[in-house]
Amino acid sequence: MKNRISHRMFSRALRVIPGGVNSPVRAFGAVGGNPPFIASGKGARIVDSDGRRYVDYVGSWGPLILGHAHPAIVRAVREAAARGTSYGAPTEAEVEFAELLRDAIPSMEMVRLVSSGTEACMSALRAARAFARRDGIVKFAGCYHGHADSLLVKAGSGAATFGVPTSPGVPRELAGKTIVLPYNDVETLRTTVRRRWREIAAVIVEPVAGNMGVVLPRPDFLPELRRLTERHGIALIFDEVITGFRATFGGVQKLFGIRPDLTCLGKIIGGGLPLAAYGGRREIMSLISPVGPVYQAGTLSGNPVAVATGLAQLRYLKAHPEVYRRIDGLGARLGDALAALGVGRVNRFGSLLTLFFTDGAVTDWDSAAGCDTKAFGRFFRGMLERGVYLPPSQFEAWFVSAAHTERDVEETIRAAREAGR
Ligand SMILES: *Cc1c(COP(=O)(O)O)cnc(C)c1O
Repeated sequence: MKNRISHRMFSRALRVIPGGVNSPVRAFGAVGGNPPFIASGKGARIVDSDGRRYVDYVGSWGPLILGHAHPAIVRAVREAAARGTSYGAPTEAEVEFAELLRDAIPSMEMVRLVSSGTEACMSALRAARAFARRDGIVKFAGCYHGHADSLLVKAGSGAATFGVPTSPGVPRELAGKTIVLPYNDVETLRTTVRRRWREIAAVIVEPVAGNMGVVLPRPDFLPELRRLTERHGIALIFDEVITGFRATFGGVQKLFGIRPDLTCLGKIIGGGLPLAAYGGRREIMSLISPVGPVYQAGTLSGNPVAVATGLAQLRYLKAHPEVYRRIDGLGARLGDALAALGVGRVNRFGSLLTLFFTDGAVTDWDSAAGCDTKAFGRFFRGMLERGVYLPPSQFEAWFVSAAHTERDVEETIRAAREAGR
C-alpha cells in the first residue's frame, strides 16, 4: 500500500491521541480517508512519511507566507535556540517586536505577546470587558476566535440568538453572554446594538472571514460596525490572526481604513512558531497586569526563539513588499481557473481563497453551510491523489505562499480540472 507508514502511524496515534490529531482540523473526518503524516517541507512542497510529495495549500493554516523552511526563518531559529530557548525574563527582541507591530498597525498603541491566537482573543476580550464594565459580547456566526469558553459559540440560523455553547463543557451561563449575529448583516447588527448596547462590552470580528471559508465583508459592514460600537462605548476587536500581514505589511484595517480598539494577531507573526499578540488603545491595554488589575500571564509568552523567528519573517516581508503582489497574482490565477471549472463559487482575498461547492454567493455562515460537502470531499481526495494538499474541509481557506511558483499553480489547475470532473 502506498501510504503504509502513514496508515500505521495513524492507528498508533488513534490509541494515544484523541482522533489521532492534536488539532481537530487536521483530521480527515469531513473528506474521508486518513491523513498523511508529514515528514518534511521545503518551499511550497511537503513530503509525507511514505515519501509522497504534495504542493501544500495549508501552509500550517496561515503562518507560512514564505513557505516551508525558508532560509531566513531557519537561520533565525538556529541562532536564537543556540542562545537559550527561554529565560522567563525580558529580552531586547520583545521590545523590537512590539515596536514593529505598533509601527505596522498604529491602532496597536500597546501590545502584549502571548503564545496562541486563542490566548490573544481570550485576553483581548477580558480587557474589553473590564474596560466597558459590561459582560456581554457579540460575535458573528462562522467566525472563529480560538477555543476560549466565551468564544466557542455559534448561532442557529437567521436572526440574533442567545449564545448556545457549540461544545459540551462550556457553561451555559457563559455562553449566554455571547450574542451571535449573522456576518455581513448590517440591519440585524444595528437593531441588536441599539436594543442591547448596555450589556455589550465588545464586538469581535474577522474583518475578512477565513474560518467558514473565505468570506469578504460587504462594503458597509465594517464601517457600520465601527460607527455603532463607537457611538455606544463598545470595544471593536479585529481578529486579524489570519489577515494580519497576509495581504499587506500590517493589518487589513489599513486597507479598509478602519481603526479598531483592539487587534489580535497570530499565525504569520510567529513564522511557524507559537507566537501571537493582542494590543490596542493605551487606556484599555493599561488595564493589563502588572500596570492594571486585569490578570493575564504566560510562562513562554514572548519566547525568545519564537520572537526571533517572527521578527525574521516580518522583517523579510517589510524588506520584500513585492511578496504581496506576487502571492496576490498567483491567488488570482488560481482563483480564476478554479471558478472557470464550473463546479462552484470562488471567494478570494489576495492569497486566501476558497472554492465553495455551491451555485449561490457565499456571504455568511448560512450560505456557506449550504455547500455540497460530499462533492468537496470527492474533489479533495482527487487533488490529494494528484499531489495537491488542500485543507481537508469545505469551510477553510487555501493559503498561497511566496514559495509557490507559476508551475506549482499550473500543476494545481491541471489537477483541479481532472479532479473536478
Ligand atoms: C487560527 C485562528 C485563531 C486561533 O489561533 P490559535 O493559534 O490556533 O489558537 C483565532 N482567530 C482566527 C481568526 C484564527 O484563524
